[in-house]
Amino acid sequence: MQERKQSRLTLSWRVGVPHYETDEAFEALMEQVRANADWLDEVAFFDSITHHLYLPLELFEERAHILAGRIEAVRRAGVRSVGINVLATLGHLDEARDTMPPLPFQPFMGMDGRSSNGCGCPNAPGLRAYIGRKYALMAAAGPDFIWVDDDVRMNNHGVPFGCFCPVCVGIFCNTVGHDFDRSSLVAALHDADRDDLREAWLAHNGGTISALMAHVAASIAAVNPGIATGLMTAGAGDLYSGANVGRWLLDLGASKLRPGGGFYCDATPGGMVSKAYDIGRGARDVRHMPEITDIQYELENFPYQKLRKSVTALLSECTLALATGCDGVALNMLPMWGAPYDECAAYLPALRQARPRWEAFVAHAAGLPTAGLWAPWRADLLASVEPEPGRGWPGGLWEHGTAQPYVLAEIGLPLSVEPWDGEAPPRFGAVLTGRLAQAFGDEALRALLAGGVLMDTGALDVLTERGLSSLAGVRVERRIDNGAMERFTDDALNGAAAGQIRDARIEFWGDARGMGDTLETVADGVRPLAEMQDYFRRPLGACMTAYENDLGGRVVVMGYAPWMFLQSVGKRSQLLSVADWITRGKLPVRVDAAAPIIPFVRMSADRAAAAAVLLNAGLDPVAGVEVRVRLAGGERTEVVEIAPWSTATLLIG
Ligand SMILES: [Zn+2]
Repeated sequence: MQERKQSRLTLSWRVGVPHYETDEAFEALMEQVRANADWLDEVAFFDSITHHLYLPLELFEERAHILAGRIEAVRRAGVRSVGINVLATLGHLDEARDTMPPLPFQPFMGMDGRSSNGCGCPNAPGLRAYIGRKYALMAAAGPDFIWVDDDVRMNNHGVPFGCFCPVCVGIFCNTVGHDFDRSSLVAALHDADRDDLREAWLAHNGGTISALMAHVAASIAAVNPGIATGLMTAGAGDLYSGANVGRWLLDLGASKLRPGGGFYCDATPGGMVSKAYDIGRGARDVRHMPEITDIQYELENFPYQKLRKSVTALLSECTLALATGCDGVALNMLPMWGAPYDECAAYLPALRQARPRWEAFVAHAAGLPTAGLWAPWRADLLASVEPEPGRGWPGGLWEHGTAQPYVLAEIGLPLSVEPWDGEAPPRFGAVLTGRLAQAFGDEALRALLAGGVLMDTGALDVLTERGLSSLAGVRVERRIDNGAMERFTDDALNGAAAGQIRDARIEFWGDARGMGDTLETVADGVRPLAEMQDYFRRPLGACMTAYENDLGGRVVVMGYAPWMFLQSVGKRSQLLSVADWITRGKLPVRVDAAAPIIPFVRMSADRAAAAAVLLNAGLDPVAGVEVRVRLAGGERTEVVEIAPWSTATLLIG
């Protein structure tokens, strides 16, 4: 066994029951552990094979007994931290419904009164007693830590949104002092004017999880208060659960967080980018908490089939996670049912090799905030944004507005996942998308508009409703939903792209509302950057404008297909110039070459230190590409060569 200096980076294995339950299986696992102990920091044993919540406690008692010996053996092999991952606290979904034992307590219930088969109501006394006992059994096995898995959420439990069982509705009625039954409550939550009720319901959900976490913490601490705890969250889905991760971590007494998101296979490699932003957002919410010392990304290969994910993708997704704020990786990649280890064998040497580079990145990037255009987000957006017409509440709102700016990264614009205090404009300008603008009060919108802003016409409509459109210089003039394209004007910001056409064939992609809006000028000094035309080249009006307002803010409005098909050479170059203009040349990194390089940047407030990861999000290799990093002392140019879907790392200062 080789001694290794402890770094901040934690690489952890998540190990399923079939890998340790029998002595034979465990010996096969230990061969793997011993062969990889030089780079492995942590092992987390799952307590269960099923996402279904309920199994008899006798089974967990027996398993805890086995785990006690297994944990010791792994420690002896040189792994510094060995613990348990409790897979089901509420249950994840309806799994194996024909064979799993039915829940002996109140199940989780949806808006329509339908009950989950596999998931329980978090407020049910029977559930509380059951999981309290289960966590106590696991604590008695002597782990260094216990993870609470990501089924602690109020949505996606076999029914979409809950819990509307009589217990939960009763608790809520007591809180708000009004007598609802399930159906009158659901109807009231859908009332466009009942922001207050939606807010109260989301707070009720958040409070339910808080109480549950306090219960889990107490159950563990009663056995051994020295056991560390960690919470896995569900990412964007947490919005419906009350989006109060910091509070939940405190209630759990946690020191570990695994922020949620999903990326599973090579078929959709871009998923690693959106997941990196999702988990970056989860990480940033707790970065200020001294209690949280370990933020792990989850590398998730479920259902663990080698041909679904390449070594290249695996290494790149982990690198992006470190770039957006994690400092460790929970490797969920071992085969589902134990040996043989063919499904993960190819990853192991690659992980060993990647470790020094990751250690250096994590050490260098510690304390550096993400730098780039601020992508809008508010934890309370499900309460403050009006329910979408024709869609139930809460609908798919979190996917709608919050992920739209990610396409900007594909054309080289770095994005920031930092929190925003609603006062000074974000450091590198902001993006404002659609109805998400409703989540911000007038003062916050004015603060945003005093800096650089890139926005769509959905957001412009919100400004107009609030009487703030003069700060954008324009308002929507006409909404065209078919037969339109944009032509770049000869404005200096368009540079060599002047005169070029971008045609997104907007009516191909479903509802094209807000995809072809012309803009009417409401202030002096508005610069048209693009004009909309029909397919006979007849002008329809300005569809993209730039304006410097009285607050000193620089605002660009995009009326034509703002969040899709931005990948043309001309559009990319226009938007890079626009981003530099709205930020007054402060964009932290700029790549001029028309290569699909996505920059993830961390930079100190004084711009003296930076750490960047550049992803080649294409299938061609990239070579000889210049990357300009804007530092306090001036620009520094690096030339990179990056293989397809691989990364290059820059550590500066
Ligand atoms: Zn309930």
